[in-house]
Amino acid sequence: MPRRRPGAVRAQRALPLHRYTAAGRCRYAEPPRPWPTRIDRLSSRTVAAVHREECRRPYDEGLWPGATRTALRTCRSFLALPGRWLYLRRDYCACESCDLRNDIAVARDLLELVARRLAPWPRRELRALLAGLDEELWRRTVPDPFAHTWPHRGGAWWHQRLYDLDHLL
Ligand SMILES: [Zn+2]
Repeated sequence: MPRRRPGAVRAQRALPLHRYTAAGRCRYAEPPRPWPTRIDRLSSRTVAAVHREECRRPYDEGLWPGATRTALRTCRSFLALPGRWLYLRRDYCACESCDLRNDIAVARDLLELVARRLAPWPRRELRALLAGLDEELWRRTVPDPFAHTWPHRGGAWWHQRLYDLDHLL
């Protein structure tokens, strides 16, 4: 076997290839699970309406079965962290599933998408739940005055809060 140049070895180590299966799927992505019958504090009627939206095919617009429950869990676990101030986090992996579980801004985007797609009555219930989460997220995070300098951080206000960069170093 030919010896590899040290640079080639380093480059290989830097690429997180081990994260992906042969099919290109992230190993850390959530495995497919049976569809949840309960989601956070939503009524069973609203859960059913959410499922209908999640199961529309093709799975475009970044929505898939179980994604709403995962997004709400991401919000709950982020807001359950101790401390007066919270800093948003993102994962090394840029796959949809890891982003949804690690970055509350991504999770909140998904919940917004679901809310927009719901019929008026389940939307009202989801919006009421989101209003409580938003209030806490707003109160416990810090505005990032430089967020506008990043093109991918436009859009809703939750993209313009300060990220914790230390955990990626
Ligand atoms: Zn991933």
